[in-house]
Amino acid sequence: MIRQITLTEEMRSRLAKPAAAHKYDHGHAMVLAGSPGKGGAARLAARAALRVGAGLVTLACPQISLAENAAQLNAIMLTALPDAYSLRGHFQDPRLNALCLGPGLGQPRALEMAPAALWLRRPTVLDADALTAFTADPRPLFTALHEQVVITPHLGEFRRLFPDLAHALEDGSLTLVEAARHAADRVKCTVLLKGPETAIAHPSGEAAVHSATGSRAAPWLATAGSGDVLAGIIAGLMARNFSPFEAACTGTWLHVEAALSFGPGLIAEDLPEELPKVFRALN
Ligand code: AMP
Ligand code: MG
Repeated sequence: MIRQITLTEEMRSRLAKPAAAHKYDHGHAMVLAGSPGKGGAARLAARAALRVGAGLVTLACPQISLAENAAQLNAIMLTALPDAYSLRGHFQDPRLNALCLGPGLGQPRALEMAPAALWLRRPTVLDADALTAFTADPRPLFTALHEQVVITPHLGEFRRLFPDLAHALEDGSLTLVEAARHAADRVKCTVLLKGPETAIAHPSGEAAVHSATGSRAAPWLATAGSGDVLAGIIAGLMARNFSPFEAACTGTWLHVEAALSFGPGLIAEDLPEELPKVFRALN
């Protein structure tokens, strides 16, 4: 029996922030994302990480994108990150405790940054270009993935990394959750296979699904940037010390709940801004 993701008492109490805590008690997430022309993906992920309750968020971007990001973000810190060496420098600070890598990053930068980021062995979400960059040869990615990582492929990204599993899914010999489980077992990290139905699997075999159908239907989530928001939400939860699997499940639930307040016409930037309302409804 596969767990359906719904709000549990444990999730409710984990999501409530203790009132008197210092911002550093809620963690510090870095979002390493964006490139010229794709800065929106980075800002969406960063705002989502902050709105889900990370105490601090730093957006690490190419030098050339700093001014554009500074013009559009206030509460998010910015840093120019020229290379993988400087990434390692940032993570000497033990308070920087989660990383979201990939949205809008561009494949050349993803190829350089992802192995270096994984080498840090910190809680990390890999999405978008951080997955697609390894289509031709996934080995450098697969050998570096570890238990603190969540990868968040949609079916197209999943197919590029796991063509045999995607084929089996499409011909009906594997269910969505079985495909995610095989992938998690292969790469030894949490796999979140997203779509109208989302399956989340941990290498231990633990798995959960969320069907954004029936009373939870939110087909308008199929919009540009929606997945970037999800990646930021999961990284923000990991900054708050949710385990990778717990962050993936809780983040998927929050993402759909935020979307349910809207209908057709939802755009991705609506989602982070809706999270405070979802949190208020928990009390
Ligand atoms: P991405 O393709 O990376 O932008 O991610 C799309 C996001 O929207 C994922 O979180 C999916 O689970 C979600 N999504 C896509 N299509 C649907 C749908 N028809 N109903 C509900 N959620 C969807
Ligand atoms: Mg995406």
